[in-house]
Amino acid sequence: MPLRVYNTMTQAKEPFRTVVPGKVGMYVCGPTVYSPSHIGHMVGPVIFDTIKRYLTYAGYEVTWVVNITDVDDKLIVQAQKEGTTVAELAGRVTRDYLDCLSALSVDGIDRMPRATEHIAEIIEINRELIAKGFAYESGGDVYFEVGKAPDYGKLSHRDPEELMAGARIEPTALKRHPGDFALWKRSKPGEPSWESPWGSGRPGWHIECSAMSMKILGRHFDIHGGGVDLVFPHHENELVQSECFSGETFATFWLHNGLLTNKGRKISKSDPETVVLMSDLLRAHAPDTLRALLLSSHYRRPIDFGPGRLDEIDRGLQTFTRAFERFAELTGESFHAMEAPAHRHDLDPGGSAMLREVGEHRERFLDAMDDDFNTGGALGELFEIVHALNRFGNEPDLVRPGRLEEYRSGMRILRELTAILGLFLRAPAQPEVPEGALTNDLLLLLVDLRNRLRKEKNFALADEVRDRLVGLGVVIEDRTDGSRWRIEPRKN
Ligand SMILES: [Zn+2]
Repeated sequence: MPLRVYNTMTQAKEPFRTVVPGKVGMYVCGPTVYSPSHIGHMVGPVIFDTIKRYLTYAGYEVTWVVNITDVDDKLIVQAQKEGTTVAELAGRVTRDYLDCLSALSVDGIDRMPRATEHIAEIIEINRELIAKGFAYESGGDVYFEVGKAPDYGKLSHRDPEELMAGARIEPTALKRHPGDFALWKRSKPGEPSWESPWGSGRPGWHIECSAMSMKILGRHFDIHGGGVDLVFPHHENELVQSECFSGETFATFWLHNGLLTNKGRKISKSDPETVVLMSDLLRAHAPDTLRALLLSSHYRRPIDFGPGRLDEIDRGLQTFTRAFERFAELTGESFHAMEAPAHRHDLDPGGSAMLREVGEHRERFLDAMDDDFNTGGALGELFEIVHALNRFGNEPDLVRPGRLEEYRSGMRILRELTAILGLFLRAPAQPEVPEGALTNDLLLLLVDLRNRLRKEKNFALADEVRDRLVGLGVVIEDRTDGSRWRIEPRKN
């Protein structure tokens, strides 16, 4: 199935195409760096990182840009509150953001431009828009005059008249129309400012993205992404000012991800009860669990982050952990160090029944991704594959010649597909418990005693031993070839 992508502009799924054959330019609006990252900040990065991974797997060379808004009203207010400078606050919050991205294996971002490094380009766009009659200077501010752009509203599919009448922006005496938006703002004393032909000032938010995206990716690029809450006014304004400036199509595809909700409410700093900081979540859950949550439904739908959802995913992902452990036991190899194909290729339909089953689910995984990056559907196929591998891995005659090689081939397919979703790239951090020889011997002794109790049909005492071990974070697993123990990381 060829890749089809939903475009907010046309409100339809379209065959994927690029401006330059084989290359993709993708711009995603990044954070305004004034407060530490919460889980809501990670939705876009994880989704677009996965989109980049899939496009790369499909053979495209992708350049992905995420901007950092490091000058803004919110930053100025927060820096004053904390008694620090905008630059110090922006630097500190940016480092926290980068740490969170790295924890969630979001490592595909090629460029992270900062607004303050692109002031010259921003001034140039302002100048050109004024020269072309789309913008005007007023009292040291520069405004875009929306009435001059006949197709204003085409991205958010709103009637331009309605947009202008209903603009929530406070009308000021400086604007010709309340719907006009600021491209440049005169700075107040003590605020960060730059010299411009209109006096000392700073850029408006929308113009920053136009300047940085066109500078790095060219005036017409392939994908512009962001959260669905950015469609209006941010993306509508970015679009209109960019196209009026360049006279070209700005972005071919507009992709908007759904937002994360907590108890049914959007996670937002303005609703403190909904905010869950990444630093707290990373202490209690494996990063793969957080990444899997954000990929568990279709990216355009809202994701609910209700109580218990992460525990449920933690439990689900243990199926994979067990598969990796079994693989290491049988082959002495690490799943996480395994080499797997990095690009799409046809699979030989031959092989055993198990490999044919895995191959069918691989096809369905790729079909789901080709259908507008349906990561939720793709993740479901990974569970089917890992179940098939676990069944095979526990068959008693696995040591027969050739069987182990089939098992390895199946695992390699799992590795190929999990890497597309950016899951299980690294071995999980080991829990901090003593695992010396004595611990192992003592636990094996308990496992052995429990098995003897079971043989003697003293199930009550056998279960008590198991339950008390669980209380200590030790899980006993009964398999056809014997029982074994493992440590479960405990939650705080
Ligand atoms: Zn933006």
